Amino acid sequence: MEYHDPVEMGHSARLPGTSSVDRIVCHVDVDCFYAACERLREPPLRGEPVVVGMGYEPGSDAGAVATASYEAREYGVESAQAISEALERLPRKIDAAQDDDLDVADAGFYRPVDMEYYESVAGDIREILSEYADVVREVSIDEAYLDLTERTGWEEVESVATALKSEIAETVGVTASVGVAPTMSAAKVASDHDKPDGLVVVEPGEVGPFFAPLDVEEVHGVGPVTASELQEIGIETAGDLAAADPARLEAKFGERGRRVARFARGDDDRAVEPRGDPKSLSRESAFTEATTDPERQTDRLLTLADAVAERARRREVSYRTISIKVVTPPFDVHTRAESLPGPVDDPELVASIATDLFAEFEGTQIRKLGVRVSNLSFADGDQPSLQQWAGEEAGEAGNPGAEPEGDPRAQTDASATEATEQATVEGSQGEETAERESPEAEQPADGQRRLGDFDR
Ligand SMILES: [Mg+2]
Repeated sequence: MEYHDPVEMGHSARLPGTSSVDRIVCHVDVDCFYAACERLREPPLRGEPVVVGMGYEPGSDAGAVATASYEAREYGVESAQAISEALERLPRKIDAAQDDDLDVADAGFYRPVDMEYYESVAGDIREILSEYADVVREVSIDEAYLDLTERTGWEEVESVATALKSEIAETVGVTASVGVAPTMSAAKVASDHDKPDGLVVVEPGEVGPFFAPLDVEEVHGVGPVTASELQEIGIETAGDLAAADPARLEAKFGERGRRVARFARGDDDRAVEPRGDPKSLSRESAFTEATTDPERQTDRLLTLADAVAERARRREVSYRTISIKVVTPPFDVHTRAESLPGPVDDPELVASIATDLFAEFEGTQIRKLGVRVSNLSFADGDQPSLQQWAGEEAGEAGNPGAEPEGDPRAQTDASATEATEQATVEGSQGEETAERESPEAEQPADGQRRLGDFDR
């Protein structure tokens, strides 16, 4: 291995941690998110092996593992594994109970993916994140970067991150791992470093020493294939990669070789930027205990309607669709929506439409309420026109965030809303695809990546 003084390398005259644009970047990643959600609404699953399957139906062996809890992983269940294979390693409790050859103690719980429910939990987490940072970049349903630079300093960032973790644990009921570092790529590695329930702070001067002993595969952008190719040429650790001859890396891996070497040195000048314009703005709030009191329900609904309308006004956003979400016990999510012929910025209208939509639920037992505005138009964009709406509905490229709402006047029922929620999820995958060009070059093809994504 040849070693190079980074200062002599033209592209990196800056030593790690000496950047004039040092930021305090925080990466938040919920632990085993889908499984954590399942435990939230089914507390007996806590401490048990839990497998959440995509394309899985109760009792079947179809589908693939989306998330395996740590307890399930001890049996060799992994994300992206076929459910049939997972079942061989970890039988279902219910099957084990009926089979003398199987031990219930060595069996687990299998649940199908319930995206709508996970989205609502993710919404609660997002609310907390937005209180902690002005700039939040959501990467996926359970992962986000926060720029804390303006809110805190390196001396107190650990206590801020601790408070964030406890608020997520206490308010939402799931644990998150948090990494804090001067760059996005280092923050991501830091949050991964001590999972689950981890908190790792890497201060500017420590980035190099922190990375040096790590396996090369832990470097942002290095997947299993690149890792084994690097090992073949004697590069085993992030420190090896940081010190490798950039020209040699480029010869073997192209520009990506130089880039991962920069990440291995902790060099990453990407700024935390929010994703493009949001598709919708919403506020949700849960009652401490489900309530049937119509007055409390209406009060809460109007508070949420005000908050959403206020947020839209602050962002200079007008909206065409107003919807409510009503969660009844155990966790049934109902949504109702009304779309207007054109975009408005009208808090009173939000309140009155939300009230109308809520009428059918008033006095029923309610656990949680939400108000959302969508079909947004942004003040800095072109004047909204019918033509633009038509384009959005067709889901034109260039506006990937558009929600696939057909008839603009449609009252959305549960299934139409499912499509909307789906769009939200697919939106974040679209984002990942875009990002893959840069750091996360090596992830497997889309479907697998999605599965692997929720693995940690
Ligand atoms: Mg996660």
